[in-house]
Amino acid sequence: MEKKDVIIIGAGASGLMCALEAGKRGRSVVVLDHSARIGSKILVSGGGHCNFTNLRIDSSHYLSENPHFCKSALARFTPDDFTALLKRHGIPHFEKEEGQLFCRKSAQYVVEMLERECAAAGVEIRLNRRIAKIGKKGRFMISEGGSGLESEALVIATGGLSFPSLGASGFGYQTMKNFGHRVTPLGPALAPLTFSRDDTAFFKELSGVSLMASVRCRKTAFRGPILFTHQGISGPAILQISSYWKQGDEVIIDLLPGTDIIELFHPEMRSKTGMKTLLSAHLPQRFSKVFCDRYAPSRPLHDYTLKELRELALLLHGWTLSPSGTAGYDRAEVTRGGVDTRELSSKTMESRKVPGLYCIGEVVDVTGHLGGYNLHWAWASGYAAGQHA
Ligand SMILES: Cc1cc2nc3c(=O)[nH]c(=O)nc-3n(C[C@H](O)[C@H](O)[C@H](O)COP(=O)(O)OP(=O)(O)OC[C@H]3O[C@@H](n4cnc5c(N)ncnc54)[C@H](O)[C@@H]3O)c2cc1C
Repeated sequence: MEKKDVIIIGAGASGLMCALEAGKRGRSVVVLDHSARIGSKILVSGGGHCNFTNLRIDSSHYLSENPHFCKSALARFTPDDFTALLKRHGIPHFEKEEGQLFCRKSAQYVVEMLERECAAAGVEIRLNRRIAKIGKKGRFMISEGGSGLESEALVIATGGLSFPSLGASGFGYQTMKNFGHRVTPLGPALAPLTFSRDDTAFFKELSGVSLMASVRCRKTAFRGPILFTHQGISGPAILQISSYWKQGDEVIIDLLPGTDIIELFHPEMRSKTGMKTLLSAHLPQRFSKVFCDRYAPSRPLHDYTLKELRELALLLHGWTLSPSGTAGYDRAEVTRGGVDTRELSSKTMESRKVPGLYCIGEVVDVTGHLGGYNLHWAWASGYAAGQHA
């Protein structure tokens, strides 16, 4: 049986970071992945430019049953640590908006950087590997592709369920369950919201329209662009709120955030201006038309009573929708929920139940907001485990 100090399953963002850090400490490390290439999600991230971190990193940008868990790892691997790594490899980056850092060139440069760092640290990466069995008798035993591997430490870095086309699988959740760990309820997050068949015609008419809005679900709200699609609504503010949305919840959209709509109506109250025309000055024309056709068939402003205008203002500030679901794991950027963090060390990511077993990245119950937070969690948790495994 071939012996290694550390076996890492998953050659994605967290697994590669953990591998290069453990390798730098002189540990013999092998990374196993069932895909034909490393870092598939890094390659597609940020529209191919990899939104690799955010300058505003802190625990308030993460969802978890245990919201304090991520603090320790985030404090020990900061955005500056990652940009310093990029700098050493001559990879330029820029801040897009709201602290989001992107690569100027392709995300491929980030993957190549991690590959080079792994090679320099003596890490071996084996692709197209099917893990048939994992056991532990003092040391971890893994059988893959007819051969056997044995190690002191085993790191589960297999990511979440979203984008199965990029190699995602439920392997990590199942393996951790087999070792006696609890997995919190899972669901698609950072996903478009979909609506019932009855609304198909309505959304079809709006498809392609985008506008700035404030979107609320229960007590959480995000302000940003929303984009209507054939199936429902997407865009950054909707993706963000989808992580908080649960089946049956309403989503409330303020279509003119920060605007006093009655003030907009006021100067026109005696005029012949139509509602559609008035709204088109503040909202996209196609949206105003479809919205008015549904909720306020256009009449001249002077025909409206003050009560009717107040009701319309309330609707524009609190357009309440009942999504039927999300677009699912095929379209979700990440998976909400994961391995229960109460059973992991926040300092090392090691299991509190099985010594030598580590769990990092998206498979853990730490889900970031849109904007570089998920990759940063992958780097930070991978770094934490890499110092210890
Ligand atoms: C389209 C898209 C765009 C995104 N853009 C951004 C962005 O710009 N910024 C950001 O912060 N986050 C982004 N994310 C999220 C981010 O990519 C992930 O959160 C992050 O990659 C998770 O890292 P990870 O190491 O946990 O898992 P992954 O990077 O998903 O790596 C998991 C690895 O495990 C392997 N694996 C899975 N199952 C098995 C198995 N059974 N056996 C062996 N290997 C297995 C997979 O092949 C994969 O290589 C995006 C996600 C998607 C889908």
